[in-house]
Amino acid sequence: MGLQELIDKNSRIVFFGGAGVSTESGIPDFRSSDGLYNQKYDYPPEEMLSRSFFDRNPSEFFRFYRDKLICRGARPNAAHLKLAELERKGKLSAVVTQNIDGLHTEAGSRNVFELHGSVLRNRCMKCGKSYPLEAIEAAPDVPYCDCGGIIKPDVVLYEEPLNESVIYGAVNAIKAADLLIIGGTSLAVWPAAGFIDYYRGDDLVVINRDETPADKKATLVIHGKIGETLAAITV
Ligand code: NAD
Repeated sequence: MGLQELIDKNSRIVFFGGAGVSTESGIPDFRSSDGLYNQKYDYPPEEMLSRSFFDRNPSEFFRFYRDKLICRGARPNAAHLKLAELERKGKLSAVVTQNIDGLHTEAGSRNVFELHGSVLRNRCMKCGKSYPLEAIEAAPDVPYCDCGGIIKPDVVLYEEPLNESVIYGAVNAIKAADLLIIGGTSLAVWPAAGFIDYYRGDDLVVINRDETPADKKATLVIHGKIGETLAAITV
């Protein structure tokens, strides 16, 4: 069965995605040949995006974060827009994403589980005051709250746990899905990658440029661009 038929047939579709969903919006992923892991920095990206590095060297963390993880001006692409349309038309029940760019919500998706948080939310580590992204962008170095605490982006760094209510919502949506579509993710980041194991439905679709560990379990594998692939779907 093709992707269009599988989407026509089901009405509790869950999409599980990652950085590859946003490359067509101009945001680099991590593991593609032009991704962040293949560029040269003083420290490996995994180290710079860890909690211990943040605590040890906040200045260097924010330099990398501002430079590479905040993508001002990026707009939702055809993949984000089609997923939002599928939800509006009652076909899709949730988007579970590893992305931190907020583009699914911007595209109009409502039931979005952001496993790794969002660059759009920021909070003082001392008093808890919330700040918009602009506060991080505008600060010359480490962003500080009026109370003197560091403003930390609400993104899950390596060594930090995922948010429990987000885990709960994502797992329940995947368990209840009648079709799981995995797209734009290498499935290399844990525990996020393990969430797909909660799926109990018959058909599994993978749409990814490169091979993934889920390909062998999938009933349909499309090695192509996710924006182009989803744009061709009619709802
Ligand atoms: P990854 O970089 O490990 O893998 C991306 C995958 O997407 C690759 O397998 C690649 O082949 C595929 N891909 C790239 N462009 C594609 C396209 N147009 N169509 C289809 N497939 C495409 O990404 P990951 O698995 O999400 O893990 C990386 C981690 O980095 C995640 O935890 C995520 O939080 C974070 N991250 C987020 C963003 C973002 O928010 N946009 C960007 C970079 C990294």
